[in-house]
Amino acid sequence: MSALPFVPPSCGQAASDRIEIYSSASLDASVYTCPQHTDEVSLTVMAGGLTPHPVRMPPGTTRCCGHVYVYPTGAFGNER
Ligand SMILES: [Zn+2]
Repeated sequence: MSALPFVPPSCGQAASDRIEIYSSASLDASVYTCPQHTDEVSLTVMAGGLTPHPVRMPPGTTRCCGHVYVYPTGAFGNER
């Protein structure tokens, strides 16, 4: 796995939001969060020098709060 500049919550509640995480040039990761953790994760991401962009979860998508998806072509992926 990649070393992310933030620690996602180990929460496990059903996520309501997906926070897209951008570095300067690319979309690098998405973190799924419940309502209690959206702000906290956004702040942590900003503290890491990245830009969070929260979006609502599309209906029918189920993820747990704290789930992280790293884009393989992004700054944290392995395909550079
Ligand atoms: Zn949570």
